[in-house]
Amino acid sequence: MTIATTIDAPALSAKPAKAKKPKPAVRLEDKFARLGLRKDMDFVLHLPMRYEDETEIVTMRDASFRGGSMVQVEGVLTECDIQYRPRRQLVVTIADETSQVVLRFLNFYGSQLKQMAVGARVRARGELRHGFFGAEMVHPTYKMVNEGAALPTALTPVYPAGEGVSQIMLRKAISAALAKLNWHDTLSPALLADLQLEGFEASVRLLHNPPPDADQYSLIEHTHPAWERMKFDELLAQQLSLKRAQAARRTKGATALPVVGHMSAAFLMSLPFALTAAQERVLAEIRADLKQDFPMQRLLQGDVGSGKTIVAALAAVQAIDSGFQAVLMAPTEILAEQHFRKIAAWLEPLGISTAWLTGSLKKKEKDLAKNQIASGEAQLIIGTHAVIQDTVQFAKLGLVIVDEQHRFGVGQRLSLRNKGIAGQVPHQLMMSATPIPRTLAMTYYADLEVSVIDELPPGRTPIVTRMVDQQRRDEVIARVHAAAQEGKQVYWVCPLIEESEALQLQTATDTHAMLAEALPDLNIGLVHGRLKPGEKQLVMDAFIQNQVQVLVATTVIEVGVDVPNASLMVIEHAERFGLSQLHQLRGRVGRGSAASICLLLYQGPLGGTAKQRLMTMRETTDGFEIARKDLELRGPGEFLGARQSGEAMLRFANLETDQWLVDKARKLAIELLQHDLPTVEAHLQRWLGQKEEFLRV
Ligand code: ADP
Ligand code: MG
Repeated sequence: MTIATTIDAPALSAKPAKAKKPKPAVRLEDKFARLGLRKDMDFVLHLPMRYEDETEIVTMRDASFRGGSMVQVEGVLTECDIQYRPRRQLVVTIADETSQVVLRFLNFYGSQLKQMAVGARVRARGELRHGFFGAEMVHPTYKMVNEGAALPTALTPVYPAGEGVSQIMLRKAISAALAKLNWHDTLSPALLADLQLEGFEASVRLLHNPPPDADQYSLIEHTHPAWERMKFDELLAQQLSLKRAQAARRTKGATALPVVGHMSAAFLMSLPFALTAAQERVLAEIRADLKQDFPMQRLLQGDVGSGKTIVAALAAVQAIDSGFQAVLMAPTEILAEQHFRKIAAWLEPLGISTAWLTGSLKKKEKDLAKNQIASGEAQLIIGTHAVIQDTVQFAKLGLVIVDEQHRFGVGQRLSLRNKGIAGQVPHQLMMSATPIPRTLAMTYYADLEVSVIDELPPGRTPIVTRMVDQQRRDEVIARVHAAAQEGKQVYWVCPLIEESEALQLQTATDTHAMLAEALPDLNIGLVHGRLKPGEKQLVMDAFIQNQVQVLVATTVIEVGVDVPNASLMVIEHAERFGLSQLHQLRGRVGRGSAASICLLLYQGPLGGTAKQRLMTMRETTDGFEIARKDLELRGPGEFLGARQSGEAMLRFANLETDQWLVDKARKLAIELLQHDLPTVEAHLQRWLGQKEEFLRV
């Protein structure tokens, strides 16, 4: 569709056309493109986000009985003034036979003022309240009408709009697209009957132009059969696309890593504990994948402290036993270093050679590591994203492990995948302690198998979590002191200050000084993101060895840090943190056998969702439960981060409430891929277009 002209914003805000502006106008076409609207089908599938009911005019007297709800009234203008109290505003009174209503506009244009002549007829829609001027509407939408002007007979759609794109422009462009579209249903009548779904064309038309007798509630709630059809189509496209990506992966070559030999056995023997049943199960899943000659792509989920590292190490051993290299990438230096020490200590006694690579190494050390990696001398490589640099060449990379995978962008994970032996894709194991609800993982992530460690190692005592008002800080400090005297160690997490890293640093430094002064007999450490890696490690080492009893930290300790003797955590301004972040932080304690406590210091009064977050933390330590709650409070887009969520992949369906449709779509996707490829093509073309690329990664 081409729209060459630029249409000015309509009606109310339009000022008389002045001399040409020097700034080149953005073409409407480009404005539409920013909303993802290019082809006719894009417009057709740009469905209303809600509807407004302008079909009815309520008398002013009746309207005043419907306090607070949206109503539309119509009347003759009796008075119009600009008033200055309580602040500058346009105040318009309109009246019908039953009563009068005051319309208030805090921002208004000269052009508006001109329209507002006494005797003119005004149709206004808004929330009627009883305010300063009696029955009134603040900022109603309105238009000037002639007596007896026809009312719309159906709900008025309201579309997602954007800068410089008004409802009127959208409506026009959408009806143009609707008029010329070549309609066909991607699903046959027999299938539709079977699935009890409505036709595509009828559904789309109904949603754009609902007939007067359509059930308004179900339109607004997205439960109308027409919406169901849209949601189903969208989910089907997603399922088809996922399954296709999965099939494509199977055609790619990977080196089989079949050897589970004496190294694995020796490693397990050397551990002071036995694997949990859940660890055994996911290990078996991974082992089976690694034996295949197409690349594994598996997400290992397990709550904080569930013991993912050991499973990853066992996977690495299998790769190495089979004669290939494995690489483990972690998002922070602290975490990478911790993995390196721990895993090297496990594996070096077995004769496995390891290399360590991060951005902070000196050039000489870096070059040495790179040489060992390129020659194959290093069998296991552990590091930060430094391992994905172009200059890092692997001799024979068989397995890629990404810890805390949600911290990395899709691009970063992909570049590791491209470091395999020519023509082959390495197996990939991604780990996450941010438990993603299973439905979400399966529907959002591109082609991905999921393994879950759903039990904690035995002997852990559950963490007790309390909410404490900031005003009781002194009591908290006393408690820290008492804990340290019993030989326990403490994390003190400084508040998150999103707007300013400098301010966050300052706060951490202040907190450190405050605690050092209040607790002179203890050693207080400080760790934050601005420390050089060497300095960071010194502090962490001192903490690990219990030379430092209290560690003041910014969120750098959020991921992975494992110091089992730490059993008290204080989180300041806990109300500023997100749920999954709180859960991650809290996961730093409760790692040993001592009973652990987490104190959530908050500054009241708490807002609604902040309160819900803290209460959730108090009520449960189950990461999956917390993730579910997080999803509920935030919605999936934000939950996964735009980079991973396939962005606008699901515009209409809601994974929480539409699960039954997901199941239907999944079933049909499998069937279509087996028996009806033309339909698969047509459907994907319609719903995904160029978006499909996104799903391949
Ligand atoms: P996460 O899943 O958060 O990465 P880790 O792998 O760091 O957890 O493991 C947490 C702690 O539990 C570590 O100290 C680890 O050595 C220990 N651990 C792992 N598996 C077991 C087990 N089966 N029994 C006892 N302790 C275990
Ligand atoms: Mg971990």
